[in-house]
Amino acid sequence: MATNLQTPIDYLKGVGPNRADLLRKELGIHTYQDLINLFPNRYLDRTKYFKINQLQRNAAEVQIVGKIIKFQEISQKRGKRLVATFQDETGTMELVWFRGQKWIRESLKLNTPYVIFGKTNWFNGKFNMPHPETELLSEHKQNLRSSMQAIYPSTEKLSNKGITNRVMTKIMQNLFLETNGRFVETLSENLLSELQLISKSDALFNVHFPKTSELLFKAEFRLKFEELFYIQLQLILKNLIHKSKIKGFPFESIGAHFNSFFKNNLPFELTNAQKRVLKEIRQDLGQNAQMNRLLQGDVGSGKTIVALMSMLMAIDNGFQACLMAPTEILSVQHYNGLKELCNNLKIRIKLLTGSSKTSERKKIHEMLENGDLDILIGTHALIEDKVKFKNLGLAVIDEQHRFGVAQRSKLWKKNTLPPHVLVMTATPIPRTLAMSVYGDLDISIIDELPPGRKTIKTVHRYDTNRLKVFRFIRDEIDKGRQVYIVYPLIQESAQMDYKDLMDGYESIARDFPMPKYQISIVHGKMKPADKEYEMQRFVKGETQIMVATTVIEVGVNVPNASVMIIESAERFGLSQLHQLRGRVGRGAEQSFCILMTSYKLSENSKTRLETMVRTNDGFEIAEVDLRLRGPGDIMGTQQSGVLNLRIADIIKDNDILQHARFHAKQLLKKDPSLRLPENAVILETYRQMGKYKNIWNYIS
Ligand code: ADP
Ligand code: MG
Repeated sequence: MATNLQTPIDYLKGVGPNRADLLRKELGIHTYQDLINLFPNRYLDRTKYFKINQLQRNAAEVQIVGKIIKFQEISQKRGKRLVATFQDETGTMELVWFRGQKWIRESLKLNTPYVIFGKTNWFNGKFNMPHPETELLSEHKQNLRSSMQAIYPSTEKLSNKGITNRVMTKIMQNLFLETNGRFVETLSENLLSELQLISKSDALFNVHFPKTSELLFKAEFRLKFEELFYIQLQLILKNLIHKSKIKGFPFESIGAHFNSFFKNNLPFELTNAQKRVLKEIRQDLGQNAQMNRLLQGDVGSGKTIVALMSMLMAIDNGFQACLMAPTEILSVQHYNGLKELCNNLKIRIKLLTGSSKTSERKKIHEMLENGDLDILIGTHALIEDKVKFKNLGLAVIDEQHRFGVAQRSKLWKKNTLPPHVLVMTATPIPRTLAMSVYGDLDISIIDELPPGRKTIKTVHRYDTNRLKVFRFIRDEIDKGRQVYIVYPLIQESAQMDYKDLMDGYESIARDFPMPKYQISIVHGKMKPADKEYEMQRFVKGETQIMVATTVIEVGVNVPNASVMIIESAERFGLSQLHQLRGRVGRGAEQSFCILMTSYKLSENSKTRLETMVRTNDGFEIAEVDLRLRGPGDIMGTQQSGVLNLRIADIIKDNDILQHARFHAKQLLKKDPSLRLPENAVILETYRQMGKYKNIWNYIS
């Protein structure tokens, strides 16, 4: 009979209550199953033997054959250390013990061939190896060990309490002995044969005790595939359930407004990516399931026009639409932009923000409820309870990462059925991550910039080159261009940042004196109306320089601005830098981004700056960002247990993820409720996951 893998770890030979307790607390291992799923962090290659004269400083663990020719006890400040002189035919080195000296001295034989294994240090002109693993060469040869030795995740407490990697390996061996290494298969015959995967039992054995690196590779592939496959299965199922359960308003026809806009108002030809995305949206809106779509597109890729045309579809079907943006500046800009785009169309658009006057608000509320308003644009003010729509059919949210889930869900309650939701973001999430985290959202990607955009030239300059940079700015302004100069503003040190900003402003004002030069300044401490005034001066070209904090980060559009200077660039995150850079390069002229820093830079900052200089591709930048910060930090994915992967790596195993997603989709297409006998294994595994891991909690 197969061993029950839900058996508590206490019952395993070599564990016992104390170790069981530690394993539970330190590594979350409660059952046999948990232990078997404790996958090694890495492997040591024990097929190689080093000679003493080949040793290198700072090398990884090495394995050496030789003899101990002498023992010596050396007194030191606290206690003694035991030193053995170890020799092979190429030289000598020292083995050192700080603990357990008596036992070591008695158990190790002089002048007898041993294999030693461990990390070496370079000290006093000699290599030494503290607390080596030792094994008689004769026994070493007899032991059928796997050549790749697993190294398990550990904690300080575990190693302090004597649960070393050797002990872990031993415990794992006991588990395989007790279960005969036979485990229930968790993938279907079909998948195994189609993908040529090795069996579960073979995979588990070879991931813990790999016989060869080929087998290790196959074992890892099979286990990673399985892990990603079940996550994808779950996300896709959730999406299907959403679509079948949550009804929405079908927008059946394309009507007059859309067509008229398309014929008369479209100021440019849509890019292929924009057309594709519009098709995807159109298809969603035509169904009677609520649309829940994420639209990703790099800064400047033209998401706004897509949003507008989607809203026109709503209006043509007798519905209202709204567009929510995170800042007042951005809302105003959207309002002005959309009004201009809709020129001559009979579309009623209004703007509602925190600074809308009471009388104006009242009027808007009335118009909304009477159905006299087609499009409402604004900030959070849109989701206040007082704001009631007659018939909201589509809600567009710009720069979604600025809004919480709670705020978004408020929009859902604005009509009898939830409106369709289109969420737009210019902070691209790497595709891999998007697939795992937002697998339940549908995703559209604009992966093409409008034609004729010149790539922005990005350089990194040290503060000492400031004069040169100023000269460059002057030249650009002489050519009629405008310049942004941005300072960091981080909450914790807001006071200091404010001072930096003001000092910077003063020095710029000195170098760029009135009346020849006019400067706008915008920061978080200003009243919205003042901000707007300063912003408008810059938009209209009355000022040539805009000194600002990151309030201009999102969405601001001034095509004539061609230079973006970012002060203390090392203090910004990658996605922020990319967002800021996206404020220029919007016109026909060559644009520039200059990253100013001091000489003191961390490795991490250097990588960020180099990445910015190297590429303009938002997705590539997002990948680097993900690598630097880990998935936990990106866009509120912390809560998403989906990323607590056991064996797969969201970045490195992108290919496997694609396979897994593809096969999960295929499977559900053929057998949406997993009823076919051939999928019984999958259904059972899926249920078991829910039962024991509470995997449902993983998914937000
Ligand atoms: P984002 O995706 O960053 O929100 P916007 O929608 O603000 O980008 O578009 C950036 C600029 O590109 C705008 O000035 C817009 O008018 C212009 N634009 C958008 N689509 C096209 C296109 N297909 N051809 C030419 N210009 C376009
Ligand atoms: Mg935008």
